Amino acid sequence: MTEHIDAGFLDELRAAVGPGNVLTDPGRLTDYGHDEFSLRDIARVPEAVVLPSTTEEVSAVLRLADAHRVPVTPRGGATGLCGGCVPSPGGIVLSLEKMNRVAVDAANQMAVAEAGVTLAGFIAAAEEAGLFFPPHPGDESAMIGGLIATNAGGSRAVKYGVIRNYIRGLEVVLAGGAVIHPGGKFIKSSTGYNLTNLFIGSEGTLGVITRAIVQLMAQPPVLRSLVVPFAELEAAIETVPLLLARKIVPVAVEFVGLDVIAITEEHLHKRWPTHAGTTHLLIILDAATEDEQDRLSQAVAEVCLERGALDVFIADTPAKQDEILAIRSMIYEAIKAETIEILDISVPRAEIAGHVRRVREVADKHGLWLPTFGHAADGNVHTHIMKARYQGGKVIPLPESAWRDRIDAVRADLYRDARERGGVISGEHGIGLVKKPFLSLALEEGQIELMRGIKKVFDPNGILNPGKIFD
Ligand SMILES: Cc1cc2nc3c(=O)[nH]c(=O)nc-3n(C[C@H](O)[C@H](O)[C@H](O)COP(=O)(O)OP(=O)(O)OC[C@H]3O[C@@H](n4cnc5c(N)ncnc54)[C@H](O)[C@@H]3O)c2cc1C
Repeated sequence: MTEHIDAGFLDELRAAVGPGNVLTDPGRLTDYGHDEFSLRDIARVPEAVVLPSTTEEVSAVLRLADAHRVPVTPRGGATGLCGGCVPSPGGIVLSLEKMNRVAVDAANQMAVAEAGVTLAGFIAAAEEAGLFFPPHPGDESAMIGGLIATNAGGSRAVKYGVIRNYIRGLEVVLAGGAVIHPGGKFIKSSTGYNLTNLFIGSEGTLGVITRAIVQLMAQPPVLRSLVVPFAELEAAIETVPLLLARKIVPVAVEFVGLDVIAITEEHLHKRWPTHAGTTHLLIILDAATEDEQDRLSQAVAEVCLERGALDVFIADTPAKQDEILAIRSMIYEAIKAETIEILDISVPRAEIAGHVRRVREVADKHGLWLPTFGHAADGNVHTHIMKARYQGGKVIPLPESAWRDRIDAVRADLYRDARERGGVISGEHGIGLVKKPFLSLALEEGQIELMRGIKKVFDPNGILNPGKIFD
């Protein structure tokens, strides 16, 4: 295995960030060798971990790494699901965890946050100032830098968009140590290329994000959740365009199967409002007043019942809403032990039902359990590739020989289907290491070539998160 660093380089790092902020103890390095992707065969222990506290320190570290050609893997909360922050080529992990200051600028309804602020901390700071940060990816230990570097999404995208829609400006340290500040506390700009957007979703390959200016909004007044069971998946999913056609824009519309609901209920000892049908829509609505919310909920219920919904359950108290949302957000935890990978294919909304039908065919073809749920109104589908069967209400683990050789074939079948439907292989998690072999199924070679050229301009020596997204 290639070693990139020696004692002299470590001394220079210690001089740059302080001796206590360079970790080399093998016992501490292991934790920095993986993210939340379940198969640990992609993990790699870094040669050292560096913990800067300021932008100047990040700049000094990148200057050194560039001069010595040492690979640098930026790391946030390590909640990523495709190996993006795994230091696969060795070298150092640059963890932003100590850069965790946030200040809210109420007059501009914006916040300035360092890269290591967690989503939980960011939401709390916004709420303390009486403001609201709409995107809500599922793991609140993700950090601002990681959320931006993956262009994270979450279930509220249909009404409120994804992280990209909220980033007004960035502070970024480039490979040689230069610091740039694209964007700012303004809404409009027609001033040259939009570099801010180029860094969003760049997965640490173009620069290290140290700070961000993030748009906030006024808090939504009245929230309500509806659980709507349908006998069949198709009827559930085909209801969503009708809601939108009637000018109803929910905060979120999630579709979820009864199998994973039942497993999660058991895991949490909580009750979902109904077990009718096979597929349920969870529809979250916000409105300015209780009266408006009543009218909106009524209109949604009418559309659903017209489309054959078996019932409509309204969670109108915070306690009932919390119980439903807890079950939805804990599905991943409940099936995590038997999950190999969570796909995050994104297709045009009208293609979801067709794609999910294809998932079922692929499950039968390869003999694997592929529970599928996701964001019905924005087209982002989460198929879990499982190393277990679901039979008679029980999860039954499979031996490795029954799943290991089938994973790539499942991925390729589903990614091809996404492409044929005009979709992409990742709607919110990124490409990282795990999806890299499949990028050419999603993008034309001409686009990948342009991306390689952009990478070369920003990182001529190839030290920033090398080997991620494409080779
Ligand atoms: C339970 C669970 C639920 C999830 N739900 C969602 C969801 O609803 N929507 C969604 O989009 N994602 C979801 N995710 C995935 C994950 O939370 C997101 O991808 C998140 O944005 C990763 O942030 P992080 O700070 O953990 O980044 P990391 O995993 O640490 O890193 C991710 C990538 O960003 C790069 N990076 C990190 N920090 C920086 C920086 N400062 N500068 C430059 N590059 C950087 C890394 O090199 C890596 O390529 C979920 C994950 C889990 C475990």
